Amino acid sequence: MTTEYHSSNQERDIAYVVHPHTNFDTHEKIGPHILERGEGVYVIDDKGNRYIEGVSGLWCTSLGFSEQRLVDAATKQMSTLPFCQTFAHRSNRPAIELAEKLIEIAPVPMSKVLFQCSGSEANDTAIKLAWYHHRARGHDRKVKIIGRDRGYHGTGAATASVTGLPYYHVDFNIPFEWVLHTDCPNHYRFAQAGESEEAFATRLASNLEDMILREGPENIAAFFAEPVMGVGGVVVPPATYFEKIQAVLKRHDILLIADEVICGFGRTGTMWGCQSQGIQPDLITCAKAMSAAYLPISAVLISETVYESMKEQTKKIGGFAHGYTYGGHPVCAAVALETIKIYEERNILGQVQESGAYLRERLEEFANHSLVGDIRGVGLMQAIELVRNKETREQFNINQQVAGFVSKSAQDDGVIIRPVTGDTLAFAPPLIISRSEIDLIIGATAAALDKTE
Ligand code: PLP
Repeated sequence: MTTEYHSSNQERDIAYVVHPHTNFDTHEKIGPHILERGEGVYVIDDKGNRYIEGVSGLWCTSLGFSEQRLVDAATKQMSTLPFCQTFAHRSNRPAIELAEKLIEIAPVPMSKVLFQCSGSEANDTAIKLAWYHHRARGHDRKVKIIGRDRGYHGTGAATASVTGLPYYHVDFNIPFEWVLHTDCPNHYRFAQAGESEEAFATRLASNLEDMILREGPENIAAFFAEPVMGVGGVVVPPATYFEKIQAVLKRHDILLIADEVICGFGRTGTMWGCQSQGIQPDLITCAKAMSAAYLPISAVLISETVYESMKEQTKKIGGFAHGYTYGGHPVCAAVALETIKIYEERNILGQVQESGAYLRERLEEFANHSLVGDIRGVGLMQAIELVRNKETREQFNINQQVAGFVSKSAQDDGVIIRPVTGDTLAFAPPLIISRSEIDLIIGATAAALDKTE
């Protein structure tokens, strides 16, 4: 596919738009890739080139790009009540119905829902709720938050701090001093020679407990975890990892916050990643597929215990001093409600189980490829990790950007796949993807790998 960077939109983008996660110098040389429209699982650019969105935008366009029911839900609500804040007793019907629905489908008993607009805002809120909860119970020193190496929790100052990827810290005066990071549960990459998954999980839980004892449990508020890490390399932890981690957290009265921003709403083949990974969190954050990304909305699901302490505290101090203008936005909530209805009516979970198994089966065909070290994932959240040496698992030099090369090559062939941490390629197509569309993803990936060899 040819690329031409001289249209006025190209020039205007370079002139005016700052792109996140972008090398600006390179951007000014090569210009933007401008998408014009979407159709099913495809996006179409301004030159008419079609691409399968193999990572659902940013793991979010779960129902693809042409779901008329979501357009109708938004239009209807927008023409009825386009805005209503939820501060100080004000409410709106879609927000109420959505909160009720989220509590109904929550993976563990949850009590209340607090809305925001993005995953970062939800996680930032969850950090504050953890502090609020502990202070309400007189544990004022319980402040430190434990994230994990390679975990990703957002881009706000606090959430980027909890994120365990140095790239997000450099030059931003973060991580904050109240943030700690413990091990990444990537067995392929970080297990010791001959260490079983079980032993690896035991060692990681023991390292966590050592950290807690070193820092003092009385100083630690919460532990943050994605059920399956996304940006950090699509990391499915060993089967007993969360059971062991949770036992440690319970012993030391540390809240478990499950970041379901990617995993939530079917990505792993169950409604929640907590269900596929056996997690019983105190707080759950979710976003992205909650509205199939048609509008921005996120939420924190709050357990009864945490809500009770919040309530006691607001009684004491007069109110809960937290909230975003657009939290509980009625149009976003109406779209999210319709999205969840579609998941249920069309048995999207069943579809993900089937298509996830098929995607995995096809990815396994790369097992003997000289560049492919590991194939991993769950549901429609799969990945291949590229290595310089299959035997030793030696990685490429970071400057080689091998995953970037493969993904660029696949994109030239009409398939978008995403390089994530550790020379890993992520495959997370819309949950409605068909077998024949998965075949196209595999075909383009195979060709791209062969070109890279
Ligand atoms: N948490 C996880 C697990 C994510 O993957 C992301 C974004 O990719 C976020 C939080 C941040 O969400 P947002 O970009 O909507 O702020």
